[in-house]
Amino acid sequence: MEIQGKAPTVKGPAETFTGDVWFDVITGGDFERMRVNTVRFAPGARTAWHSHPRGQTLYVTEGRGLIQSRGGEVIQIRPGEVIYTSPGEEHWHGAAPDHFMTHIALWEVDDQGQSATWGAHVTDDEYGGQRT
Ligand code: MN
Repeated sequence: MEIQGKAPTVKGPAETFTGDVWFDVITGGDFERMRVNTVRFAPGARTAWHSHPRGQTLYVTEGRGLIQSRGGEVIQIRPGEVIYTSPGEEHWHGAAPDHFMTHIALWEVDDQGQSATWGAHVTDDEYGGQRT
């Protein structure tokens, strides 16, 4: 057994996020595939378009959020909801324009240690800015 200290909170990089996004790593060591992060999005903040090689589960814990799969509608997400995206499914997730949103993100890296393949930022038109 090991009581582990908490890693410092890390800001999501501007290359792959719009707005203020902060990560707290719960687990993600060098010798395991599992990744679990708490991710906090400020109002209007969101990921860029991306996909995960082994899929991803999101568990919304606070606030109001939005998520969209490529070709689908922008969907509102709320605390208690669990959202699964399949391996290779292109999508984005973030806060609503008028609320913070926190989710726990759970995924596995692939054989090369990759978590995601990143694409373009989500434009304001794509984001839509629907109020919740
Ligand atoms: Mn994702």
